Amino acid sequence: MKPLTEPEIRAAFVNCTKGEASRLNVPRDLAEQPWDDLDFLGWRDPQAPDRAYLAAVLDGRPVAVALRSSGAASWQARRSLCSLCVTTHTGGVSLLVAPRAGKAGKQGNSVGAYMCADLACSLYVRGKKEVGTKLHESLTLEEKIERTVANLAAFVAKVMA
Ligand SMILES: [Zn+2]
Repeated sequence: MKPLTEPEIRAAFVNCTKGEASRLNVPRDLAEQPWDDLDFLGWRDPQAPDRAYLAAVLDGRPVAVALRSSGAASWQARRSLCSLCVTTHTGGVSLLVAPRAGKAGKQGNSVGAYMCADLACSLYVRGKKEVGTKLHESLTLEEKIERTVANLAAFVAKVMA
């Protein structure tokens, strides 16, 4: 993906206030991120590990989403599937919840999805980060990347709906 700057990321948040977007922790090492291998940038807040964020460029526009780990994740099976990149992990998938954008979010509506706990989906898809169990799939790398981007776009669309 196209590298994003800190101001671009902060301006792209769709589901938190401008104040929250200006205060939240954006990675300091943006210049060192492996942008060529990323379909989206995902990170955990180092000071608040239950908070996670992702930033992507969808339809040519930067979009960022604020997420929270849900306490409800404790019942999950030991082996779980990421709903974005369809990677199976042992204990490495979190239920992340995003408040919906605008009025719906203020009323407490949210969208949840299981995602790789470290939000490194792009690297798992490309085999740049290893997982214990690999699904046997006949998809090419291109197709897996397309699927990940489509799943991400569908999730973001639900947040913004
Ligand atoms: Zn994933």
